[in-house]
Amino acid sequence: MSVDPVLVRIDSDLPQSLERLKELLRIPSISTDPAYKADCDHAADWLVEDLKSIGIAASKRETPGHPMVVGHVDGPGPHLLFYGHYDVQPVDPLDLWDNDPFDPQIEETAKGRVIRGRGTSDDKGQLMTFVEACRAWKAEHGTLPCKITFFFEGEEESGSPSLVPFLTENAEELKADIALICDTGLYDSRVPAITTMLRGMLKEEITITGPSRDLHSGMYGGAAMNPIRVLARIIAALHDDNGKVTVPGFYDGVTDIPDELREQWDALGFDHKAFLKDVGLSKLAGEAGRSALEMIWARPTCEVNGIGGGYQGAGFKTVLPSKAEAKISFRLVGDQDPAAIDKSFRDMVREMLPRDFEVTFDSDGAAPASVMSIDNPAFEKARHALSDEWPDEAAFIGSGGSIPVAGYFQTLLGTESMLIGFGKDDDQIHSPNEKYDVESFHKGTRSWARILDALSKQ
Ligand SMILES: [Zn+2]
Repeated sequence: MSVDPVLVRIDSDLPQSLERLKELLRIPSISTDPAYKADCDHAADWLVEDLKSIGIAASKRETPGHPMVVGHVDGPGPHLLFYGHYDVQPVDPLDLWDNDPFDPQIEETAKGRVIRGRGTSDDKGQLMTFVEACRAWKAEHGTLPCKITFFFEGEEESGSPSLVPFLTENAEELKADIALICDTGLYDSRVPAITTMLRGMLKEEITITGPSRDLHSGMYGGAAMNPIRVLARIIAALHDDNGKVTVPGFYDGVTDIPDELREQWDALGFDHKAFLKDVGLSKLAGEAGRSALEMIWARPTCEVNGIGGGYQGAGFKTVLPSKAEAKISFRLVGDQDPAAIDKSFRDMVREMLPRDFEVTFDSDGAAPASVMSIDNPAFEKARHALSDEWPDEAAFIGSGGSIPVAGYFQTLLGTESMLIGFGKDDDQIHSPNEKYDVESFHKGTRSWARILDALSKQ
């Protein structure tokens, strides 16, 4: 089975592919708002019918929330699990949209043709790139080159409450040789990317209490310790002068990226000066001696996300507050253990408290990082297939954010994920006037056809 006629068919079918995508986009499947429950259901039904139309045994699977869509098709190659989500973000503020978010339109822009509407990039447009690639394979060869399980979720934008129970209950059915997740972006318009590192996260809210009530600084100032002073000292102690995090044992499980990956990242020529200039800064704040990409993708962090205490209204009130609080989060990499770091962080804070002071912790969740083993040959095959389609060579990249489904596939199914997507930074996902480049859709579909071909070969 050759991929060439499949690519030709994808090109000639582009107008029909876009029409099908528009149909799906017209369904307002906003998962977080109960008013759209029937629409989420409708989107799931639409996908079931669309998969069936290309000979895939698909069904809608009920959950306590919105349904999942699961489909199976046989093929000679390895077993792939493809993931995408059919739910979308709410659209308000509606007055900032130039058009109805659920009446998608193709527009000519200075940067090329785009399809505009909610869900175009996140994630219906991306999801359909894979479906369209399969459709073209099926039409040309009557079969697919790999065995594929399709898995579409309808709660990604509302915290995926049914995902873990569903994966746990259906692990045998869903596990595969490798998972393909299409919910990420290109590195830039010339360089496609496979995201292989996702940072984990640990969040703690700390409240430090000293005096039993707010005090007047004229009466107690000097004699009584101020909780804000204590909190400030703790926060200041979390980093050393070289930008390293000082929580004991914090770097256990953090390893340097392999030289080969470092060379790839250097070759991307990331312009950290422009990156910082964009937000009015000029100096990197992370660990001394590390590149900006390393800091964002491959190094752990500690950030204070909020701080409060004392009088914050208009004018002045000379108060020594009874409490001070901060929200502190850590981004984790490699094999860092969130539970061990949390314990070490709490011990460190407790040790810095003066006499009479107390601290309470309110944990807001923790998840370890996901690091894919790129020595699995599927990664290199997919990278070559992407490089054949796009102007420049594809890169293995990291992501500063988290995509929990990849971690769940790893822990609950034992299946590693390749995160491949064709979104762009200016797609305005989650914002008004979301768009997806028609080129992303078209070349994304061609990319999947090539990847299926590459993965099917020994
Ligand atoms: Zn998404």
